[in-house]
Amino acid sequence: MLDISLLALRRPWQPTISVVVPAYNEADGLVRFHQRLEHAMAGLGHWEVIYVNDGSTDRTMAVVEALQRTDDRIALVSLSRNFGKETAITAGLDYASGDAVVVIDADLQDPPEVIPALVAAWKSGFDMVYARRRSRTGETWLKRTTADGFYRLMRRMGDLKLPRDTGDFRLMSRRVVDAVRQLREQHRFMKGLFAWVGYPTTFVLYDRAPRHTGVTKWNYWKLWNLALEGITSFTVMPLKLATYVGLCIALLSGVYAVQVIVKTLIIGNPVAGYPSLMTVTLFLGGVQLMFLGVIGEYLGRVFNETKQRPLYLVERYAPSAVKVEG
Ligand code: UDP
Ligand code: MG
Repeated sequence: MLDISLLALRRPWQPTISVVVPAYNEADGLVRFHQRLEHAMAGLGHWEVIYVNDGSTDRTMAVVEALQRTDDRIALVSLSRNFGKETAITAGLDYASGDAVVVIDADLQDPPEVIPALVAAWKSGFDMVYARRRSRTGETWLKRTTADGFYRLMRRMGDLKLPRDTGDFRLMSRRVVDAVRQLREQHRFMKGLFAWVGYPTTFVLYDRAPRHTGVTKWNYWKLWNLALEGITSFTVMPLKLATYVGLCIALLSGVYAVQVIVKTLIIGNPVAGYPSLMTVTLFLGGVQLMFLGVIGEYLGRVFNETKQRPLYLVERYAPSAVKVEG
């Protein structure tokens, strides 16, 4: 008898796939998203989807709750306020119980139809399968160029190889999820964290669609900050740069000093050079302030990490049936 009940309690043989969907003010598109997800997941065995409501101010939570009444594969994790996409994904990973976890945007820019290809690659032995954009339709030239420049810069500065043209849309095996979950830093640059853990990695190409409904929450200021986060979380190159710029300026000023001395000895000391003096002073002042700022960026992050606050707070959690079974 005991054996039978144990059997029933055991995970079904087929691996479970958890889909993590961060959602911030996505009420308009969620039903459509869920339909397409359901369609795409058919035939992939047991799966659950975890909608992380990232402190939405619209009806996102109500929509998920309504969906939940019709589909017990849905879990809802509702955060106490808006923590940002990176943290919302972290919360989703914490609550995902699947053998593989897929992270996907709620706005249908990441087509759910790609998931079977991700799962296939995972089953063929890869731990991390990221979806790589073939095209970036619906994005401006400026956004494309700046994104491109950022990836190039990251590659050159850190020893971390960030895959190009990828967002957070990807599949991770259980051991990758467990590894990522151990990285509890406050300043979360998910793409970097995903790359940091390593493990056998491959990619699947897809075409990125324009947003289905609503507007993007990213403006250039936010993107700039994300880029700063990426750089400061994974490399201390800017600090090194400060050292070398300082060194170069010191060397140059040495050469210049020799020139001034020689000139004074040969042709005397006519008082001149106010403009050049001003230029040099301002230049050095500027360089110093800039690098103080760079040090400040790092110091601020150290400060934030030392507080050891929890990454997010959950206001409401409603598990899926898969989780209850497991
Ligand atoms: N998102 C979130 N919290 C935020 C901002 C965005 O959970 O503070 C979610 C959003 O609901 C969507 C995904 O992150 O599912 C991507 O957001 P968005 O489409 O605004 O970014 P983009 O596609 O422009 O990179
Ligand atoms: Mg989007």
